[in-house]
Amino acid sequence: SVAKEKILQRKSLQLRHQQQSWQESPEGKNMLEFRRSLPAFKEKDSFLKAVSENQVIVVSGETGCGKTTQLPQYILESEIEAGRGALCSIICTQPRRISAISVSERVAAEHGEKLGESVGYKVRLEGMRGRDTRLLFCTTGVLLRRLLVDRSLKGVTYVIVDEIHERGMNEDFLLIVLKDLLPRRPDLRLILMSATLNAELFSSYFDGAPTMHIPGFTFPVRAQFLEDILERTGYRLTPYNQIDDYGQDKSWKMQKQAQSFKKRKSQIVSAVEDALEVADFKGYSLRTKESMSCWNPDSIGFNLIEHVLCHIVKNERPGAVLVFMTGWDDINSLKDQLHAHPLLGDQSRVLLLACHGSMSSSEQKLIFGNPEGGVRKIVLATNMAETSITINDVVFVVDCGKAKETSYDALNNTPCLLPSWISKAAARQRKGRAGRVQSGECFHLYPRCVYDAFADYQLPELLRTPLQSLCLQIKSLQLGSISEFLSSALQPPEALSVQNAVEYLKIIGALDENENLTVLGRKLSMLPVEPKLGKMLILGAIFNCLDPILTVVAGLSVRDPFVVPADKKDLAESAKAQFAARAYSDHLALIRAYDGWKDAEAQQAGYEYCWRNFLSSQTLRAIDSLRKQFFHLLKDIGLVGNNSETNNKWSNEEHLLRAVICAGLFPGISSVVNKEKSIALKTMEDGPVLLYANSVNGSVPKIPYPWLVFNEKIKVNTVFLRDSTGVSDSMLLLFGGNISKGGLDGHLKMLGGYLEFFMKPELAKTYSTLKRELEELIQK
Ligand code: ADP
Ligand code: MG
Repeated sequence: SVAKEKILQRKSLQLRHQQQSWQESPEGKNMLEFRRSLPAFKEKDSFLKAVSENQVIVVSGETGCGKTTQLPQYILESEIEAGRGALCSIICTQPRRISAISVSERVAAEHGEKLGESVGYKVRLEGMRGRDTRLLFCTTGVLLRRLLVDRSLKGVTYVIVDEIHERGMNEDFLLIVLKDLLPRRPDLRLILMSATLNAELFSSYFDGAPTMHIPGFTFPVRAQFLEDILERTGYRLTPYNQIDDYGQDKSWKMQKQAQSFKKRKSQIVSAVEDALEVADFKGYSLRTKESMSCWNPDSIGFNLIEHVLCHIVKNERPGAVLVFMTGWDDINSLKDQLHAHPLLGDQSRVLLLACHGSMSSSEQKLIFGNPEGGVRKIVLATNMAETSITINDVVFVVDCGKAKETSYDALNNTPCLLPSWISKAAARQRKGRAGRVQSGECFHLYPRCVYDAFADYQLPELLRTPLQSLCLQIKSLQLGSISEFLSSALQPPEALSVQNAVEYLKIIGALDENENLTVLGRKLSMLPVEPKLGKMLILGAIFNCLDPILTVVAGLSVRDPFVVPADKKDLAESAKAQFAARAYSDHLALIRAYDGWKDAEAQQAGYEYCWRNFLSSQTLRAIDSLRKQFFHLLKDIGLVGNNSETNNKWSNEEHLLRAVICAGLFPGISSVVNKEKSIALKTMEDGPVLLYANSVNGSVPKIPYPWLVFNEKIKVNTVFLRDSTGVSDSMLLLFGGNISKGGLDGHLKMLGGYLEFFMKPELAKTYSTLKRELEELIQK
């Protein structure tokens, strides 16, 4: 170990030398000059001092002041300077992949190195780091998984948790774990970074850790709400009472009913209604009414956005435009719409960019760079552009007022992922993005009275999502009792949510009666997907029907590849229905569509195939790449071998696929009763439910299966089931839940409870026959 120490010393010297020569090179000097202009630089010394004197500090500072790119680098540089370069290991977590990657690229460049040398990154299933990486940017999830195998973070000297103000579930979780770890690792330093001033909350959580603030400077930004925009641009809204006549806006009505019992939201709804009624109707068909619907992910007022963008390009001073959308789906659809526009699609005038989680570095250059020749840069982004990334030259912000947010209804045990109204804090943050280099303007695409009804801050994610994956992690990290552990969170979740999650994990067989991890649970915790998808993967591997199950799991993790253009809805639906012929399954339709695409790709006809069948080739490619990654993961944990033939021995057995899908999705089951003219569906928690509009099972006259399993339900006024698959009684009996729980009898008893609930008399027979057969089988 003396020899080892020598090597480290030599390396440290070498690092110091490298750093010095970079900082003295012309390029390095330029870079330093830029870095010194950032507000963080003024605080460099006091920051380093605070870090050396305290185990935990909390730093706040406005977005763009240099927290993410500078502070970790200050630590790295000072360690190198002090000749400890090879001894330090700094981990900086980011809530999103894209920021981990783009920030590491930036920091490596500022440090005068290639990515993967001193500075690297690691995100789920992908990374760029070497043995000598000292400063690692990773997603919070990656650090959590590392804690799985390395509970005391051996060798790590600094942990920096970024963007804690977002209050993501992983970040809150990580803070509990770190709080527990700090006393055992007195040499470990923890730095928390936040873009807002609520540092006190975190400081008191860490026993009064010191806080420091980096004062920033932004230019004033003028906020304009819908009424101002309408007046300024001469645009007219469709009054609410006209919408029904067009018969297009069922969703808006539904939301209205759904939220009428939620006071805050109902205030918003009536405020919007008033605003729409006040506005005067000029016969222009405007899709603003859609921006009011809450469960359709495509429901942003595209035409209004288009109109505002046109106005900016035609009439406003130069400066980039940043448009906040809710998700990748609507960014894509909007992009298509804008590309087709005579002015906005004109590449000599407009550079239209989308900011997403897997941008290449050339795309990033375009986003951060200045287009030439008076071309107007328009960047479409999600809420990650609120704080995670900073585009300096933005002068105009267009804010749709929504973000896709998961929420969770613990009473009904129902998760919801809906574009919902953002908080006042988020709206302010969006607005602030327009004032980085000069005064700017923000177009809020909703009336001021709607803004007034926004909540002040967004609810922490821990309080609005199902906790299943989290509970599994707690168990696999051996952190003790789940409810006890979670009660030490910054803001602990409801007891009922915790109880639901634990109950779920028991039902699917991931935890035993005493809340201990089962073998299945341990495998599930190693797979970076929801437990239900993990279970499907594992069973797909065990039952040798791997490829189709990979497709289903990747499809559910990416997004639906079926596209439904508003003007070709019928054609699109019948295209999808063809894939589902006699299958009564959205999942099997997905498998068939994907397989068809692979065949077409092999003959260079993939694009045509997608076009003909209303599929998104981009999504299919994403699914394709995720499938490969899942396959490697399964291989790594020893569940599958390399032989594709063995792995897929039963891949053509649709019955088996159905059963495996059932095993994964249980207890997401609904009973099916075919009525004269309709199909009645019912779940145990919700009573009657409906199918989401684009499910293939929504358009069939009858479903010849007694059950549907579904992967997601969404609550509007009634509960809607998303993708579903028909399954038989015996599939449910054999694959639903966990046979190992309480033996066969216990299993059947639990299922019996379900069957009784649904009062299917004909099942009693199947149930007892099956029980007898199974018992005989087991006897043998
Ligand atoms: P914070 O974390 O406080 O929001 P950052 O450290 O991310 O701030 O960014 C500080 C500054 O560095 C930004 O204002 C921007 O000017 C610059 N910057 C960050 N990333 C890049 C990049 N990829 N290319 C060019 N400049 C960048
Ligand atoms: Mg930052």
